[in-house]
Amino acid sequence: MLSINAFNTYRIPQIFDYYRPRDLREALKLLESVEGAKVVAGGTDLVVDLKYRRIEVRALIDISRLDELRFIKLEDSYVEIGSAVTIQEIVESSIAREKLPLLVEAAESLGSWQIRNLATIGGNLCTASPAADTAPPLLVYDAELELVSLRGVRTVPIEKFFTGPKRVVLERGEILRSIRIPVSRNVFGWSYIKLRRTSFDVAKASVAVLLDARDGYIVDARVALGSVAPTPVRARGVERSIVGLKIEEAARVASERVVNEISPIDDARSTAWYRLQASKTLVSDAVWRAYERLLKIGV
Ligand SMILES: Cc1cc2nc3c(=O)[nH]c(=O)nc-3n(C[C@H](O)[C@H](O)[C@H](O)COP(=O)(O)OP(=O)(O)OC[C@H]3O[C@@H](n4cnc5c(N)ncnc54)[C@H](O)[C@@H]3O)c2cc1C
Repeated sequence: MLSINAFNTYRIPQIFDYYRPRDLREALKLLESVEGAKVVAGGTDLVVDLKYRRIEVRALIDISRLDELRFIKLEDSYVEIGSAVTIQEIVESSIAREKLPLLVEAAESLGSWQIRNLATIGGNLCTASPAADTAPPLLVYDAELELVSLRGVRTVPIEKFFTGPKRVVLERGEILRSIRIPVSRNVFGWSYIKLRRTSFDVAKASVAVLLDARDGYIVDARVALGSVAPTPVRARGVERSIVGLKIEEAARVASERVVNEISPIDDARSTAWYRLQASKTLVSDAVWRAYERLLKIGV
């Protein structure tokens, strides 16, 4: 008989109930009433945790097929994405490609095709990995997250959502329903750069930049990083320090200042020292790439 260990990942060494609710309300009722229940969407994080016994559950509530969580829609001033939309659906969405190219660039970099077909945007945020690829773009887009429970609805700015590695503000009984992303009238150049060991790997460090410029001077800059702090971080000090500068100077200053805004650690993927050094180059490259794209758009 095969023993259950770190090398045997075909088995889930736990017994639990499995529910597939018909609608969101039923999912919320189950989450409230079933002891030890957890929500599962694509399962690409959760099932790995179960296999390695990092968590224990009594029941899984599968929300991956709930229509109320599976939409991408464009309203006057924002795009709204249901939490159970898969990463591949974002990559292929014409709305996302037109209005949120930075999010699409990050989504394209997430895992392999197989993972992207299962993994959801909600799962990517709720798992709260500092390396989550959709987090830096959503931080610079100033996304808002709509959380629902039987008690009602509340909206949380994404900057307040992550509270630590694997920790978010979700309370017992709450589900992330959707992500609302304001659509700016301004045109931005964009860039998501991810440093990783292999083409399918999770980030050692990542950076998302949105940039607006006039006559070669930066007039608006938004910068966020992943995998270099306990949570994905918005680098507001970098943003403030480069507005008003010419692009050459802005890229240099961004690279100098970014070290004040991150606190990387050593882990299986990289060392703190390497992440610190790499972040300087990543930020500078991303500022340049966003600027070059802005010029191509013709602003
Ligand atoms: C081989 C491999 C490669 C990967 N590569 C990458 C990568 O390059 N970049 C990256 O960012 N990630 C990567 N991941 C991690 C993972 O695929 C993503 O984080 C994915 O988006 C998780 O989504 P999911 O739907 O599978 O979440 P699940 O595993 O279903 O859930 C994850 C957590 O979120 C909770 N949850 C899910 N949806 C909700 C909701 N709507 N409301 C409340 N809680 C919810 C679950 O209870 C669970 O705690 C990889 C994983 C694997 C196995």
